[in-house]
Amino acid sequence: MPLEIRIDRSACRGSQACVRRAPGTFSLDARQRSVAAPRPRESEAVIRDAAGACPFFAIEVRETQATAPAADRGAGPGSAS
Ligand code: SF4
Repeated sequence: MPLEIRIDRSACRGSQACVRRAPGTFSLDARQRSVAAPRPRESEAVIRDAAGACPFFAIEVRETQATAPAADRGAGPGSAS
């Protein structure tokens, strides 16, 4: 399932913990804030490990329902909001 990676750039302090663990997914931009590649090159496990290593909790990783039809994406039981 595709992953959605969100980075809270106001929380990011450029420590590079994510970059060191998953350099094919995370990099720093010119402002020394983390950005995620549009097509991550590491496995989900490596990406989640990198996200968990952020000392500022700036990275959120979750599975997306990008391929599901719109009718299946309602807020039913068990769905994230
Ligand atoms: S580990 Fe967190 S604070 Fe460090 S560069 Fe990555 S997102 Fe920013």
